[in-house]
Amino acid sequence: MKFKFLGTGGAFDTAYGNSAALVEYKGNTLLLDCGFTVYPVLRQHQLTRDLQYVLLTHLHNDHTGSLANVLLHCHYFNPDCRPTILYPDDDFRDELYEFLRLQLQKPEKYADFMPLSELPGITAIDTFGLHAERLQTYAYIFEENGERLVYSGDIGQPEALFANLRGLPPKATTVFHDITFSEQNTAHTYYKKLIPLAQDYHIYGYHCDPTANPVDNPFPLVYHHPELLLTPVYQDAVH
Ligand SMILES: [Zn+2]
Ligand SMILES: [Zn+2]
Repeated sequence: MKFKFLGTGGAFDTAYGNSAALVEYKGNTLLLDCGFTVYPVLRQHQLTRDLQYVLLTHLHNDHTGSLANVLLHCHYFNPDCRPTILYPDDDFRDELYEFLRLQLQKPEKYADFMPLSELPGITAIDTFGLHAERLQTYAYIFEENGERLVYSGDIGQPEALFANLRGLPPKATTVFHDITFSEQNTAHTYYKKLIPLAQDYHIYGYHCDPTANPVDNPFPLVYHHPELLLTPVYQDAVH
């Protein structure tokens, strides 16, 4: 299992790309979120043809903004590629379908829809309302070959996710967690709230501007780890 981030920025940190990742999972490539900067990165690296699955944490624009474009591109230019959109529950499928229907008229022309439960090893954690009021969001836990990787999505309070992780059989766990360096920002997790969890989990911060990283932040940022980035060169080039 491998995570390659396509971007690590927050909604307005376009220099670092929208937070999203390609996950190599059980021999398939899964696109985890698809914000408005994702399509150009996939095109630049000729990766649109390799997408088997798409999984979204929520419907904010920095997580979905180029999804319709990616699906159209696959349909018209990569005829062997027809992504399957995974959905954690029926309500979210309905929201996602409506979101795509307004852009594509007939989403089923461009993608298949499949319950996440049909792909064993990936668990959705319902984080409804923890990022924005009345907004459906999810975190995801990926397990393969004894490895456990967690992707927080956007979440203002980390407790619900970690309570869930504590209920799982003990295992070395890497958590990619959204992080903010501003205590006033309640839509994302203030880094100091993660400090009590630092000894039990290997936590990397993402969805942030790395230039705002305070010196007392103990958590490594995905941005600073080239092995977690699809294109460290691209990231440097856009600065
Ligand atoms: Zn976001
Ligand atoms: Zn969001």
